[in-house]
Amino acid sequence: MTDEKEKKVIIAIDGPSGAGKGTVAHYLADKFNLKILDTGLLYRALAKIALAQGLDETKTDDIIALADTIQTDDVTQEGLRDEAVAAMASKIAAIPQVREILNTLQRDFAYGDPGDQAGVILDGRDIGTVICPDADCKIYLTADQEIRAARRMRQEGNVCQIEVQRLMSERDKRDSTRKSAPLNAAEDAYIIDTTHLTIDEVCQKASYYVQNSCLPGTLTA
Ligand code: C5P
Repeated sequence: MTDEKEKKVIIAIDGPSGAGKGTVAHYLADKFNLKILDTGLLYRALAKIALAQGLDETKTDDIIALADTIQTDDVTQEGLRDEAVAAMASKIAAIPQVREILNTLQRDFAYGDPGDQAGVILDGRDIGTVICPDADCKIYLTADQEIRAARRMRQEGNVCQIEVQRLMSERDKRDSTRKSAPLNAAEDAYIIDTTHLTIDEVCQKASYYVQNSCLPGTLTA
């Protein structure tokens, strides 16, 4: 085998909430046999434990200590999709020491051995810019906020769109303006505005970019 064939691919998907990252990441993971990590769930897992302990985001020392207990397996817990957990996740994601700890977990996943899979795919806010700046393919998904809120509402069912959009807007603002690793497209990312696209069209575009960015022989689709 040549070195090129042994190389494992790294795919980075970033963007704001409701842009379709999760759906696209799962589609690409299935298509190209990639090990997947939704990095937002790490922040959510930490947020959920902090909330259960009655901590708010100002208790930074306690939250940093809790961050040390988080593992990649924690992403399978129930109740991580709640809006209260999402809001707390975005507040604690602004604490630089929390990011450092969770960054290590994400890098261990990204650069560790994916076993017999062709590589890894991570989705989040700073994968292409901070976690894996050398990713083989970086994709940044975005969409108008109203559309993202409507999609989130359809996913979650019985919730008010105005309230979902208000919470989303607060979270977008916090995630984009924080000092530590704010939400940003990497300079070399493919940007897909999903506002007027079907999910199938987004998946096809993303798939095309992945195939064009990875060296021949590194993908198994
Ligand atoms: O992607 P998701 O909505 O599950 O992420 C929850 C929160 O976690 C985001 O609002 C963001 O503040 C934080 N996050 C982050 N960096 C990542 C992934 C998520 O700051 N790589």
